[in-house]
Formats: sequence, C-alpha cells, structure tokens
Amino acid sequence: MTGVEVSKRSNGHAHVFNPRTTSYEFLGPPGTFLISTLVPFFTYVFAYGCSESAGGCPRSFYELPTSFMQTVTDVDWWKAQWDPHGFAAYFAWYAFTVVAWAVLPGEWVEGLPLRTGQKLKYKINAFATLLLSLGLAGGLIWTQGPASFTYIYNHWIGIVTGAFVNSIVQAFYCYASSFAQGALLSANGNSGNYIYDWFMGRELNPRIGSFDIKSFNELRPGLILWFLIDISMACEQAVRRGGHITDSMWLVICFQGLYVIDALYNETAILSTMDIISDGFGFMLSVGDLLWVPFTYCLQARYLAWHPVELGPVWTATIFVLHGLGYYIFRSANSEKNDFRNGKNPKNRTFMQTKRGTKLLTSGWWGMSRHPNYFGDLIMALAWCLPTGFETPVTYFYFIYFTILLVHRQRRDDEACHEKYGDDWKEYQKLVPWRIVPGFY
Ligand code: NDP
Repeated sequence: MTGVEVSKRSNGHAHVFNPRTTSYEFLGPPGTFLISTLVPFFTYVFAYGCSESAGGCPRSFYELPTSFMQTVTDVDWWKAQWDPHGFAAYFAWYAFTVVAWAVLPGEWVEGLPLRTGQKLKYKINAFATLLLSLGLAGGLIWTQGPASFTYIYNHWIGIVTGAFVNSIVQAFYCYASSFAQGALLSANGNSGNYIYDWFMGRELNPRIGSFDIKSFNELRPGLILWFLIDISMACEQAVRRGGHITDSMWLVICFQGLYVIDALYNETAILSTMDIISDGFGFMLSVGDLLWVPFTYCLQARYLAWHPVELGPVWTATIFVLHGLGYYIFRSANSEKNDFRNGKNPKNRTFMQTKRGTKLLTSGWWGMSRHPNYFGDLIMALAWCLPTGFETPVTYFYFIYFTILLVHRQRRDDEACHEKYGDDWKEYQKLVPWRIVPGFY
C-alpha cells in the first residue's frame, strides 16, 4: 500500500483508510534528519567526553566536544573500539528479552480501538521479564561477587554500538514492511517524504505475528537494560572501593530502579499513551527506546562509578524527600487518570462530559494543570542528578533535556487533544489554564 488509501464504509460513504500527513512536526525533514544524527552522536559524545579515559567529566558543556575530540583523535583509541564481544553480548541480551516475552506467562490484554475499530492484543509480561533479569543478575553478584557484573562497564562502547545498530535495523525493517498490503499507517508518518516518515514511523503497529514490535521495545530491552547498567556501575564502584557503595550511588540506583519497576509493573498504562495510540514505530522510537534511554539516562550512575560522591545524611535525606514528593505527584496523577479512564472515580473528582463521548477530569491533580504527571516526573529527574554533586553540569543533562522533551510533548498532546476534542478542549483549557507546573507554567 502506498500513500493515501480509500475504502468504503458499510454505509457506502468513502472513508480514508490511510490519510496523508499534511503538517510536519520537529521542523519537518531537515529537523528529523538533524535529530536522527544528533541523538546517536550525543550518545557517543557522553560515552567518550564524560569518561575516565577522557580525564573525567568536563566542568562545562562547552568543554564536552573538546574532551570528546581529544579521545577520538587518539589512534590507540580507535583500535580499542573494536569490541565484537560487547556487540554480540548486546544482541544476546535483546534475544533474551524476546524469548522471555515468548515463554513467560502473561495475560493478553486488548489495546484501545484503532481508527478501523479493531483492537489489538498485547501480552503483558514485562514485569516478569524484569524479575527474571534481576533474579539472574542478583544471583550472579551474590555468588560470584560484584566483579562478575562489571561486564557492562568494561564493554561499554561495544554494547552501545550493538544497540545503535539494532535501532537502525529495526527502523528500516519497519519502514520497508509498512508498504505491505493492508498496513495501517500512522496519521503522523505518512507524508510521502522518506526521511520524515522513516523517522516518525510509517506503520502504526508493526508486528511479526502476535509480536508487537513497538510496545515490546517501549518497555523491555531498553528500560530493563538501563537498570542493569546502573547495577553494573554500582558493582564497578564497589570493586574499586573494597565493596563499599556510596550513599549517592544508592540513591541513583533506588530512584531509577523505582522508575523502571513502576513503568514495567504498570505495563498496561502504555496502551493509552501517545506513542502507542498515534505514533508509528520509526527511528524516533527505536533509537529513543533502544539507545538513548538506556545509555544516556544512566549518566549519573556511570559518572559515580569512577567519581564517587559521599553526600552525608543531610543531603541524602533532602534528596530522598524531594524525590518522594516527585514520585508521589507522578504516581498519584497517573493513577487518578488511569482509574478514571477505567471507569473508576474513588475520590469523586469533578469532570467534564465531552461531545466525543469521553470525560475529562477537572479537579484533583488534573484540575491543577493539564500535565501534573510531567511535573512529578521533572522533580524526580532533578533528584536523580543532585546526588552527583556540582563539579560538572554534564550529569544534569538529563534534567535539561527532559524539561525540553516534556515541554514539547505537552504541546504535541495539547494539539492532539484539540483535534480530538475540538471546542471542549478550549473549554477545558479555560478551566485548567496551567500546562505543567500549577501557578507557574
Ligand atoms: P499522559 O499520560 O499525560 O496522557 C495524555 C492523555 O490523557 C491525553 O491525550 C488525553 O487522552 C488524556 N487526558 C488529558 N487530560 C485529561 C483529563 N483532564 N482527564 C482525563 N484524561 C485526560 O501522556 P504521556 O504518554 O505523555 O505520559 C505518560 C507518562 O509517561 C507521564 O507520567 C510522563 O511523565 C511519562 N513519560 C516519560 C518519558 C521518559 O522518557 N521518561 C517520556 C514521555 C512520557 P484521552 O482523552 O484520549 O484519553
């Protein structure tokens, strides 16, 4: 199938099966080309520019490219980059998560209706995969000691490159398979421009049999790997410090681990996210899920592996409380909306009935701002960075990047809701004027 396809509804009216994408996001083809280049580039910049071999993490972002260039212009460095072992280990990891999806028990749950009215089924066993992975890693560390789990630290570049290659291969595979007869295309990735559609994702739900490529990659191989990377960094620190792990490292592992556990435990919640409902699976999601998230979100733990920071009880408690506040807002806002979308309203929140049929909460968290969950997420993001101290801004990159991402995502969602709800959304915007941070933004 190519481009626009028209089918007939039972009432005889023409119905566009795959409408053309008529407006660009991310500044269109040039913007998406730039992001496609910059995301992998910056993953390597962080890997090389903020590392022990580069002499540490620079004291300003400005010095990061210099630090990166110093490392990559060294001839010996190029020889050391060839790491087929780490590269193969990444694919072994990916294969493990696929096998776990296939063999571990899990309930098959229906997603939200597609624009064709059809509902796809998803196997829910990401949390079981996480438990199995943690059990195996924990068993290894328990019996063989922390040195047995420093493999990820020691084979960093090989593993990063494996993930990068995987993300490219999957984006091309999904783009090519989107031309198969009958494929349902994303309304955001059917512009006809190759680069743009390849980046945004042309096919909405690429699948191999019942294996849903997009939902699988969203949660399992990247998020679980991120947690394992953090654990490997803690093991590296423990080996260097005679078995002792700093309070700062414990905070980072616990905070980020909780985030991963929360996401995988609430796996069904992703079925109603923008990524699953409206975005196709292109390079944007493949590189985000497989490369960017695991290998840049762990920057704090990787820094602390070779640059230990002792916070002391006061700072530890302060950061712990800040994170608790963020998590409380994030979880209670998300749960309030999920419950409401599933027909439950235990706290009797007020709501607005829309012409589209669905209701919008107008009190509680969702009466304070249009994305209170993003507010909680941002507080947590800051709490992940603070344990690294103030010697370098590079470990705060996550907070800066995430603020930009969520501000942009909020605007995308606002536009999407405007399209979905029409005037009702304008009414809701009047009732809830703040976008993310109540009283501020
Ligand atoms: P949200 O969970 O915020 O959902 C947005 C949707 O909720 C809207 O499209 C609308 O859909 C519905 N909605 C909006 N307002 C209301 C209301 N008042 N009452 C009821 N429903 C409403 O979207 P995201 O997918 O962006 O975020 C999910 C979580 O993932 C967030 O906690 C976010 O912080 C996190 N996240 C994390 C990222 C990371 O990299 N760490 C990246 C992106 C997100 P409808 O009405 O059709 O149901």
